[in-house]
Amino acid sequence: MSDEKKDNIQEFKLEPDSELRFELESKSEKVYVILKSGFAEVFGTELVIGKRYEFTAGAKIAVFTWQGCVIELRGKTDVSYVARETPMIIYCNCHAALEVMRTDAEKHNKKGPITMVVGPGDVGKSTVSRILLNYAVRMGRRPLFIDLDVGQGQISVPGTIGALLIERPASLDEGFSQEAPLVYHYGHTKPGGNCTLYNMLYTQLAASVKEKIESNKKTKVSGVIINTCGWIKGAGYKELTQIAKTFEVDIILVLDQERLYNELVRDMPRFVKVVFLPKSGGVVERSQTARSEARDLRIREYFYGTPKNSVYPHSFDIKWSEVKIFKIGAPALPDSCLPLGMKAEDHLTKVVALTPNPGILHHLLAISYAAKEDEILLSHVAGFVCVTNIDTERQILTFLSPQPKPLPNNTLLLSDCQFMDSH
Ligand code: ADP
Repeated sequence: MSDEKKDNIQEFKLEPDSELRFELESKSEKVYVILKSGFAEVFGTELVIGKRYEFTAGAKIAVFTWQGCVIELRGKTDVSYVARETPMIIYCNCHAALEVMRTDAEKHNKKGPITMVVGPGDVGKSTVSRILLNYAVRMGRRPLFIDLDVGQGQISVPGTIGALLIERPASLDEGFSQEAPLVYHYGHTKPGGNCTLYNMLYTQLAASVKEKIESNKKTKVSGVIINTCGWIKGAGYKELTQIAKTFEVDIILVLDQERLYNELVRDMPRFVKVVFLPKSGGVVERSQTARSEARDLRIREYFYGTPKNSVYPHSFDIKWSEVKIFKIGAPALPDSCLPLGMKAEDHLTKVVALTPNPGILHHLLAISYAAKEDEILLSHVAGFVCVTNIDTERQILTFLSPQPKPLPNNTLLLSDCQFMDSH
């Protein structure tokens, strides 16, 4: 090993209840973590002694220990330090309270806790959701994870909402296993982009989740963890209260913001427990660029997998006549121009057929399960393709797709999300 590499090996002895935090920005660097002795976990996923865990650009990680441990960190990080103050004990108490409710649900054949995690952006909502899900699954539970964060969600690609049955802890490099997620196409990275549609979609998702819960006893008692967007003011707040009602949540965990906590205590019915949780000092605020890079990475991983587990997407041509492309939402018309009986907001959920045009180049297209046009709006989706070329003369589209031809359905929905395939 070269001297330079040797210099980049650091050993950390962690006291019980402390964590090693590190960040990695540089795209050319990699960092490895090895647990030498003791016990440690990353956002609720236990580390195996002696195994080398790899982290790449954009990683913002905390290796936490309840009992104390020794960790080796290899490679050049941008930041690395040990923090003794963490809110983990509070998060763990939260988990314990949820476990009590699950045991009670088991005894009385009731639904387990439906928990919603809320708070402004960058307070660790996704991380807390992940910790609680990991702890639940480590106890033998099978909770459902619902991600309503259309900007930085952990299920499928950005611009979607979805549900995932959690059957094993998240892997450190790939997150939760994406086996058969239930995904709905929304098409924008902000819930305010089309509130009416967002509303309809999570209402539909809630109905599907209800069915799923009723049909699976283990999931029924394990309950649900719902992650939300950081949109908490004005219309965003109203949306949160509406989500709580639609999913019939029992518990709302409010991260970091006392104002939001107080508003929810005031506005929620009494049977909903609203709990304030401090944010971790380790949560890193992300710039607009970092968010957009994270979205890009998410889409890249959808097609190419992770550095550790790469997959090879397919590229194929398809005739325009073989697919039907739609966009949800039409330009608004003034009230005076609307047909009788139509409301102004109806244009937001109008399904409009599109002729392929250069404007859709690099865009993602959702493959809808809809069998008929009137099912498009509320059908879930099979997956996504990306338009990598468009030949207007020969009327041919080239798609990047995780699956080879043929597509599972020829009804495709245009997303705002774009992906530049640099491979
Ligand atoms: P939110 O969902 O509220 O936007 P996230 O849970 O995505 O916030 O957290 C933001 C970033 O902070 C993520 O990259 C996450 O990995 C990182 N992070 C969370 N907790 C810690 C911690 N204790 N130490 C270091 N980084 C953390």
